[in-house]
Amino acid sequence: MKRNQDIVKLTEKHIASTYGRYPIALVRGKGTQLWDRSGKQYTDFVSGLAVDNLGHCHAAVVEAIRKQAGLLLHVSNLYHIQPQAELAADLAEVCFADKFFFCNSGTEANEAAIKLVRKYFHDRGKKQHEIITMDYSFHGRTLGSLSATAQKKFHTGFAPLLNGFKYVPFDNPQAVEKAVSAKTCAVLVEPVQGEGGVNLAAPDYFIKLKKICQAHKILLVFDEVQTGFGRTGTLFAYEQVGVTPDLITLAKALGGGVAIGALGGTREVMDTFVPGTHAATFGGNPLACAAARASLQVLTRKGFLEKSVRTGQYFLERLIEVAAQFPMVRQVRGMGLMLAMELNQSGSGVVFDCMRQGYLINCIQDRILRFIPPLIVTKKEIDGLIEAMKVSLGKLKS
Ligand SMILES: *Cc1c(COP(=O)(O)O)cnc(C)c1O
Repeated sequence: MKRNQDIVKLTEKHIASTYGRYPIALVRGKGTQLWDRSGKQYTDFVSGLAVDNLGHCHAAVVEAIRKQAGLLLHVSNLYHIQPQAELAADLAEVCFADKFFFCNSGTEANEAAIKLVRKYFHDRGKKQHEIITMDYSFHGRTLGSLSATAQKKFHTGFAPLLNGFKYVPFDNPQAVEKAVSAKTCAVLVEPVQGEGGVNLAAPDYFIKLKKICQAHKILLVFDEVQTGFGRTGTLFAYEQVGVTPDLITLAKALGGGVAIGALGGTREVMDTFVPGTHAATFGGNPLACAAARASLQVLTRKGFLEKSVRTGQYFLERLIEVAAQFPMVRQVRGMGLMLAMELNQSGSGVVFDCMRQGYLINCIQDRILRFIPPLIVTKKEIDGLIEAMKVSLGKLKS
């Protein structure tokens, strides 16, 4: 019999130990379902961390990849790349941004944003380089994005970090106003904090942020790496918070399961980048762009996101019902299909127990269970998870 343990052993021997991994190897996926090496089946409420928004191996994405793979895999950005140009045009139709820089991940998209906002002011003869970011933010693991990430636990051991970041509490416009100085060039913020705990801001927070940015003539950057592509119920979360940022960073679900990231913005701001100022060899490669185009087409089909919003509402109601039954649940919260349940204790046992019962969820900040299923998840699958959660929560001491 094929064993998960064989893969676990190989991983332990040959893979850098950057992740604490659950002891299964997922080898196949279809829609909301995953199978491990022993053949055990799971319903996925993790989506490869908000990547597989269409579900696993969506037929349209797989077909686009097949087609592109037989045509052209990679050429340099020294030349024009058809799927890249077409993807940018597709995105421009559904997003405030007119121009895009393509890269391969979320952290790279944020690195591009950090460089761009600095140069934007440099080009205008201004000595403004400081970026304000939020406590419990997450922007990535490379040194620039890590420095933007205002969580000490990620910084330990990597000093000195990049200069020029100021951290303030999330959902506190006064703190931002106070932190702005003559050196400030931008505010970088997630519309809903993801890794930091699925933290939502007050309804007028982003409107106030935008006003502060306009008053001080600084740029507002939204990190929509996790919230983008339907996760919160609209294609982008900025559509729901009452403001349009100057720049947006994207990755995760952009490629329908393939690695791709992007920085987008208005023409005026994006034109800061001129030949020689920024680059990525694989950025906007034909394969990733073809996959992203196919994925975007499905996400923007009439009724697709509307249905996911109704599913999200149902999910939230069911989580609220569980919260009322179990005293160790502190709060449930979220938007669209980006939901969380905060416990008064570690959630790690619940994750393992749900996995045993065939449901994959994950736990952030030790005590927060996060639910980010494919947007095609059904009410029946949610009911199944809820029953599994009741079993698991029933084993905890209140
Ligand atoms: C995951 C994430 C990132 C980093 O993306 P990578 O592709 O892992 O580099 C950045 N910002 C947010 C909000 C994220 O959730």
